[in-house]
Amino acid sequence: MRPVAVLGATGSIGRQTLEVIAEMEAEVAAIAARRGSRELWDLATAHPQARIGVAAPTPTERDQFGGLGSRVVFGDEAVASLAGEPGIIVVNAVVGVAGLKASLVAAEAGNRLALANKESMVAGGPVVGAALAAGGGELIPVDSEHSALFQLLAERKPGEVRRLVLTASGGPFRGMTADQVADVTPEQALRHPTWQMGPRITIDSATLMNKALEVIEAHHLFGFPYDAIEVVVHPQSLVHGVVELSDGALLAHFCDPDMRIPIRYALTHPERGTRRAPHFPLAATSLTFEPPDLETFPALRLGYEAGRAGGSAPAVLNAADEIAVQAFLTGRIGFASIAVVVERTLNDVPVGPVESVGQVLEADLEARLVATGHLGNSC
Ligand code: NDP
Ligand code: MG
Repeated sequence: MRPVAVLGATGSIGRQTLEVIAEMEAEVAAIAARRGSRELWDLATAHPQARIGVAAPTPTERDQFGGLGSRVVFGDEAVASLAGEPGIIVVNAVVGVAGLKASLVAAEAGNRLALANKESMVAGGPVVGAALAAGGGELIPVDSEHSALFQLLAERKPGEVRRLVLTASGGPFRGMTADQVADVTPEQALRHPTWQMGPRITIDSATLMNKALEVIEAHHLFGFPYDAIEVVVHPQSLVHGVVELSDGALLAHFCDPDMRIPIRYALTHPERGTRRAPHFPLAATSLTFEPPDLETFPALRLGYEAGRAGGSAPAVLNAADEIAVQAFLTGRIGFASIAVVVERTLNDVPVGPVESVGQVLEADLEARLVATGHLGNSC
């Protein structure tokens, strides 16, 4: 297998990627994170051949990591450039739109982009698509639903598929009313029933914004119109994606809710790797499905609206949500206000084109400013 660069190596997906790489005895080409944390330092020591990227070091961290010599780079641009090393697989596990540049660099360099950073596709789908076409890179999704759909669609001919279904666990507040979720605390929202993830995506799973972002991600990855992408709540998180075919057959992909499975597939595709685990306990498994509750979780509706509006609207949706989630986590706004801030921001920021990375980042910045302005009056 080709050497692997792991960007966002200290996070939930990054750590699991390094576990899979170790199991497969593959080479680590580069490791990057935002801060020069103790964890990144330990990784740098454990992988003495790997290049190291620190996107936003403090002066002390810069001094400490600088001691490792020329294999260390600092700053966002330099971290993104690690994705351009020829002949590598880039696992983009950075959180937020901060991951967009690395996706573009990997795609332009003709590398395999194993993409967990859904914000790249949500905010800059057309730009990433153009970079892949220009550079000859390939994108293998890591997000579990998209990995499932990617595998299900691999052998289908155009016109055979009527609709794509993404499953959602429903999050910790499934079954609650809008009034009941209004006052939930960050601690409650961070307790996800089936997945262990970073804080932003965990809150997004509780509001269903994560599924909103995933609908847009699926639209860009697979080219299906929004009317043909459906979300179904499936609390067991075992079925990750379903495709409905023209003859009425439904093909589903299911496996344990273990991100190492789609991570491994993104590294080994088109081959299959090996997971050392007991057989799936099929006879002890039940699967249930229900419609999402758009009244309690308006974020999903906002995702479809932003997706259909197109242009910069998904970038605005994502940026406003990044601001609102941070404000919720720090106690500045309540849970229900997350969707309110996002909706007001979408209403205020006009939709523009996203034909260049500059346009994406401009829309992102404007949305952040507008969303920040809405924090004070949203509670
Ligand atoms: P975490 O918050 O756990 O980790 C985020 C990682 O990104 C950390 O290593 C962080 O470094 C790093 N990072 C943040 N900003 C930058 C930057 N500017 N440059 C370089 N690195 C940066 O997030 P997750 O692992 O949960 O999620 C990562 C991505 O994967 C997200 O886009 C998420 O939506 C997606 N995803 C996650 C899933 C999961 O199960 N966790 C499932 C499907 C998709 P530091 O530690 O120094 O802050
Ligand atoms: Mg997902």
